[in-house]
Amino acid sequence: MKALRSRRTPISQSRDTEERHSHETLSGENASQHSTRSSSAGVFRLHLPRFARRILLRTTNLAYHRARRGIPFARDTPEQLYREESAVRGRPAMSYYQPMARSVLAKQKVLSFEDARRIVERHATRFEAPDPEIIALDGSEGRFLAETIVADRDLPPFPRAMRDGYAVRASDLTKLPARLKILGEIKAGGASSLHIKKGCAAAIMTGAPAPRGADAVVMVEHTSRVEDFVEILQAVRSGDNIVPTGAEARRGDYVLPAGVPISVAAIAAAASVGKDKVLVYRRPRVAILSTGDELVPVARIPTRNQIRNSNTHSLAAQVRMAGADPVLLPIAPDEKVRLRELILVGLRQDLLLLSGGVSVGRYDFVEPVLKKLGAKFFFTGALIQPGRPVVFGQVQGKYFFGLPGNPVSTMVTFELFARPMIEALSGANPRKLQFLRAKLKKSISRKPGLKRFLPGMLSGEFENTEVELAPWRGSGDLASTARTNCYVVVAADRETIKAGEWVPVLPR
Ligand code: AMP
Ligand code: MG
Repeated sequence: MKALRSRRTPISQSRDTEERHSHETLSGENASQHSTRSSSAGVFRLHLPRFARRILLRTTNLAYHRARRGIPFARDTPEQLYREESAVRGRPAMSYYQPMARSVLAKQKVLSFEDARRIVERHATRFEAPDPEIIALDGSEGRFLAETIVADRDLPPFPRAMRDGYAVRASDLTKLPARLKILGEIKAGGASSLHIKKGCAAAIMTGAPAPRGADAVVMVEHTSRVEDFVEILQAVRSGDNIVPTGAEARRGDYVLPAGVPISVAAIAAAASVGKDKVLVYRRPRVAILSTGDELVPVARIPTRNQIRNSNTHSLAAQVRMAGADPVLLPIAPDEKVRLRELILVGLRQDLLLLSGGVSVGRYDFVEPVLKKLGAKFFFTGALIQPGRPVVFGQVQGKYFFGLPGNPVSTMVTFELFARPMIEALSGANPRKLQFLRAKLKKSISRKPGLKRFLPGMLSGEFENTEVELAPWRGSGDLASTARTNCYVVVAADRETIKAGEWVPVLPR
């Protein structure tokens, strides 16, 4: 560093001096003096517009300094130009090509959506199971099961009638109509000592145990009763409308494996085997840190050029819906020292989500600050829209996501990348992204190259599920997005999708 700096100083000084001379040369009174000097030295004077003179000047200056240091001039990637001009100036260059140069410096790992997602999924398998806790079955929906739930008895525990009707022997129904003697009636929950012999039947209700001797149930709709006899109008096969004992699960069989999300059906299954309490994984804690000098807390009145911090709150909701507890940090300014402090606070939680400050603007400090803390970056961009600058990495043993600050980008990138990580931290078995399909109402055209997740409205029913893009003013357009209910997914290689085509849709 020392060597570099000592080399830069004379260069920057000499450049400054030179630039001053050049400006003098090209403007005002001094120009005539200089022109005399120049012409006396035999130098040709060019009359160029001001911007062209600037570019020429800058290029010749760089060429001059490169020549002095023995660097061939042809090696000029934007990154090199940027580095070099910074070195020449002795401070970061402020030039028209700076944004490009920064993007080259910072965005080295821009992946396709599929590759980026795969990387997250791969890291998401590397966690040890979190600590478990026992909670009441009621209210456990959405949590992830930490125990295997087994059947405490055969399911069903008795041969269960599936229909209201008559328990019969199927072999009695070879000739129709068949006339059978009714031996009695069996209610759901009732015990039965009946034994169905040849030529006999018993009236039976749905959920009641089928009596001995009977091997099928005829639906009541296919019968006609005359006093103690029933006339059977339709044949059944042996086994029809009866679920045999233990057909759904044998005692000790597992009903639900650990790691599954507790769904409505899982609650019913757990309840059916007597679990009024369940062992679930502890909810991970996810730190949320929004960055930006323009942000004010929701309850504060913003000045004209400020906006309210909405990302912290939408992310908190998404974190909760993904099964974790959000930890809301104060807004970080676009300033490295405070940002670093807040990042360190965030890293005390299981996962850190940052919003904003990951683009290539001059005050986007999230990546440099994380880098300084020793972060590894698995990707620093994905070929998606919205959300291209999304960042995923690990620092001090914790994973983090740098989500772009535009509110819709923040939501989409959370859904696509942060959710699987949160689920893994919750002890969930890995899941793939699942899409619905819907018929596109109006043709859409987009430049290929980015996989797009565009806010849309899903409507229609049955086989006519339709979707339409919302009129949208880009990834900052919260008002329009809030009125939609899904994202229409457009593959990166598609330019036009015609009305009527079935497209994948990510419901919200
Ligand atoms: P950034 O990613 O920091 O360049 O921000 C991109 C855009 O999103 C800017 O217009 C920001 O003002 C806006 N933005 C950033 N963070 C938030 C936030 N927490 N809430 C609402 N808008 C935000
Ligand atoms: Mg910002």
